[in-house]
Amino acid sequence: MFSRPCSRVACPRDAVATLTFDYDDSMAVLGPLSTSAEPHSYDLCERHAERTSAPEGWHLVRHTVAGQIGFGT
Ligand SMILES: [Zn+2]
Repeated sequence: MFSRPCSRVACPRDAVATLTFDYDDSMAVLGPLSTSAEPHSYDLCERHAERTSAPEGWHLVRHTVAGQIGFGT
């Protein structure tokens, strides 16, 4: 079973989502946990993924599979 810890400091949970920053488009993309660690990406647990918001001037796009992570609509 593949798993990585949440990248937030002091968070012991397993990551369920990956947040990737696209600097060309000023877009933060939150999607299912990626299978490889990439630059400018952060693995987040469900709680931190839910609380994530885009930095000032950025768009946040959520690509989630319904029911998989449990985001509200
Ligand atoms: Zn976390």
